[in-house]
Amino acid sequence: MNLEVITTGDEIVSGITLDTNFHWIAGRLTELGFNVGFHTSVGDSKELILNALEIAGKRSSVVIVSGGLGPTPDDLTAEVASLFFGVPLELNKEALYMVEERLRERGRKFLEANKKQAYLPKGATVLKNLWGTAPGFQFENKGVTFFFLPGVPKEFKAMVEEYVIPYLNKRCPNRDVYRVKTIKTFGLRESEIAERLRGIEREGIKIGFSPSFPEVHIRVVARGKEVDSLVSKTVNDIVSRLGDHVFSTEGETLEEVVGKLLFQRGLILSVAESCTGGLLAHRITNVPGSSNYFNRGVVVYSNESKVEILGVPEEMISSFGAVSAEVVKAMADGIRRISNSDLGVAISGIAGPGGGTPEKPVGTVFIGMSHSKGTESKRYLFKGTREEIKVLSSETALDWIRKFILNDV
Ligand code: AMP
Ligand code: MG
Repeated sequence: MNLEVITTGDEIVSGITLDTNFHWIAGRLTELGFNVGFHTSVGDSKELILNALEIAGKRSSVVIVSGGLGPTPDDLTAEVASLFFGVPLELNKEALYMVEERLRERGRKFLEANKKQAYLPKGATVLKNLWGTAPGFQFENKGVTFFFLPGVPKEFKAMVEEYVIPYLNKRCPNRDVYRVKTIKTFGLRESEIAERLRGIEREGIKIGFSPSFPEVHIRVVARGKEVDSLVSKTVNDIVSRLGDHVFSTEGETLEEVVGKLLFQRGLILSVAESCTGGLLAHRITNVPGSSNYFNRGVVVYSNESKVEILGVPEEMISSFGAVSAEVVKAMADGIRRISNSDLGVAISGIAGPGGGTPEKPVGTVFIGMSHSKGTESKRYLFKGTREEIKVLSSETALDWIRKFILNDV
């Protein structure tokens, strides 16, 4: 069964409004195992809407149209539909009653323009809109089923759930299922991943890459009758080839994974940040329940603050510089000590675009980790804009915490 979605509106085709109706319905229908074959967007023009209906009627078995059912003169969909189906528009009593009822509920007056919304192609089945004033309708024509739904996203979604999905379920009860698993990785480039995954393709499985800076996500997609074991075998195979570069196969963020690990091991974390300006603490605290394992984060941007708050020796900063292994280790020790935490993590670097030197170019970042067995630091050279360097620094710190807990605790 080929499905087609037509979204209408000048605001859509002129780039003013993002076509979230299509984005949403495509995802929803796909996850339910349906196949969206085509998507067309047209402006508020009789000729173009008619054209889109004609084309859809020839190539698809179910067509879902959004928008243009309102009371204003630019709402043309019902009129064009009647033209296309070759039936007159007529005042639909059920639709009229529904519009009156909605307006009454909202304490609004029934205006002549509202009556327009109740004129539907003769023979159409009214789809009651309980979420707004524009009635939708369904029409069968030459073996093709058309759904006409309002464009307001909340109404569109509710009516897809209420009318379209039950209809499709009934029509295709034994369709293939759709399964997708996302494997999230950090630390390998796409090309390196592709190299390691060579030859992993299996019949009935599609593997897709989607870089999501600074991570690479791998999607394993399958359609079929019994695909669950095929999907889990493929996921396991990918994980074993990519090792601990994989941080999640369940859709979690890196900060969620780190939070779970800290919580499971009963560890308390505190962080001291310079160039990331609080981004690391922000990400950690984005996770609900982070107060169970996160004690504090301090932004120590100036040299004085590193000395005053964390007790970094002044001479250390003047001899090695604020961006150095020595200072970042002293920062990690300092934050661990003052917060009485199990883990202290510190970041100091040059996010740019200025401030680089030949020895320490822009993108040089030191990360320090202080724990019960000692203090370590790592040096990185990140490439990118100021913002990207901040994101990479926070990601790398989180990933180090993750690997540290998995391997060393
Ligand atoms: P309409 O039903 O065409 O009068 O649309 C009503 C409102 O819904 C418009 O003003 C848009 O803001 C919104 N809308 C219409 N179509 C879409 C769409 N495809 N995606 C997101 N919003 C939409
Ligand atoms: Mg419109």
